[in-house]
Amino acid sequence: MELPFAESYKIKMVEPLRKSTREEREQWIKEADYNLFQLKSDQVYIDCLTDSGTGAMSDRQWAAMMMGDESYAGSSSFFQLKDTITRITGFEYVIPTHQGRAAENVLFSHLVKADAVVPGNSHFDTTKGHIESRKAFAVDCTVDEAKDTQLEVPFKGNVDPKKLEKVLAEKAELVPFIIVTITNNTAGGQPVSMQNLREVRAIADRYGKRVIFDSARFVENAYFIRTREEGYADKSIKEICKEMFSYADGMTMSSKKDGLVNMGGFIATRHEDWYEGAKKFCIPFEGFLTYGGMNGRDMAALAVGLDENTELETIETRIRQVQYLAAKLDEYGIPYQRPVGGHALFIDADRVLDQIPKEEFPAQTLAIELYIEAGVRGCEIGYILADRDPVTRENRFGGLDLLRLCIARRVYTNNHMDVIAAALKNVYDRRHEITRGVKIVWETELMRHFTVKLERLG
Ligand SMILES: *Cc1c(COP(=O)(O)O)cnc(C)c1O
Repeated sequence: MELPFAESYKIKMVEPLRKSTREEREQWIKEADYNLFQLKSDQVYIDCLTDSGTGAMSDRQWAAMMMGDESYAGSSSFFQLKDTITRITGFEYVIPTHQGRAAENVLFSHLVKADAVVPGNSHFDTTKGHIESRKAFAVDCTVDEAKDTQLEVPFKGNVDPKKLEKVLAEKAELVPFIIVTITNNTAGGQPVSMQNLREVRAIADRYGKRVIFDSARFVENAYFIRTREEGYADKSIKEICKEMFSYADGMTMSSKKDGLVNMGGFIATRHEDWYEGAKKFCIPFEGFLTYGGMNGRDMAALAVGLDENTELETIETRIRQVQYLAAKLDEYGIPYQRPVGGHALFIDADRVLDQIPKEEFPAQTLAIELYIEAGVRGCEIGYILADRDPVTRENRFGGLDLLRLCIARRVYTNNHMDVIAAALKNVYDRRHEITRGVKIVWETELMRHFTVKLERLG
């Protein structure tokens, strides 16, 4: 018989997990004002809050940590990192930063001026924040298919070339660059095809514009190209990454995702003028150019992490685990955003708890129920996160109301995936008994989801 798929690693260090009782969890979530961000991590059994900075490093990365060079200037760990990035992306100029949003801050300080228009595919919230805080505008040109959670198309993260063309035709002089997020995080970790990256490049060239890739999950994107796009099945992940980046002028990176480290980021580009411009902002915001907010040891571990993650076995193990969980949910009939993306499942809470009115926040209610059921912590990506309209102060109910379950890299086993799926099934089976949601009793004006205080109704 054909041998089954298995993880590309074995485990050599473990951290015990503590299971709690339902009574304890009911008490803890109440003390946390029904906000899962306010839970302590040891009150959580399986943590699916985020896949950012939560992965496990390999023995080779830990060994690299020991070899890290903590020199302020000219650290050999910086050059190890720079050479790795250049080898994988083709970009010659590299500036390290302490995380992804810092890379945006440094590069955009040079490139984004007031009134600028930055088209892209569902800008990540910090990316959008760094554009809007400079009184510029982020224009979302994602394909319409991304809005339909049940539609099965292979590259739901794509840029719509017509929408992009329209922005450029009307406002080219205001556009400092185009930004493409790979994978498209906001659309659910959905990939962008090589074909689409090529089209974006061609449009950019026609208008003489440059292209940045927001690359937090670029390896996941490469894996989807390999498995879904014609002509790439025999290419290595590194070859695919090289081709992807050949269509960009530069990148911002959150190393906490596909860098396989717990903290870090960087900017990389092929253009000296971008490097020279960004340099001026790196020094005051992040630190000298050969460490930019990172330790030598962390740069060394990142260099190894980038190399490891761009090997097929590593990225395949990760994506297959996310797909394993998705297949379980299919078996139980639980609706999620399809097809599953690279890093998380997004449960369609409006469809699960359809008798709970929007005003009582179905996705947050589902997150609370799942936590009480099994100590699994997810994250509401829905009406609470959407904040209020800045002018009318009304809740924004226009978007989707989702419960996101992120899968940390190399942390949990498929047995844990089984527990997550079973817990969801238990909640799903008693969904008709869950008739009331939650009410906000205290909130901040912006980014309320981190600190909001809630009360359970009913
Ligand atoms: C996480 C992320 C960022 C921001 O990176 P941080 O390391 O969290 O600051 C930017 N863009 C995308 C697509 C991300 O996923």
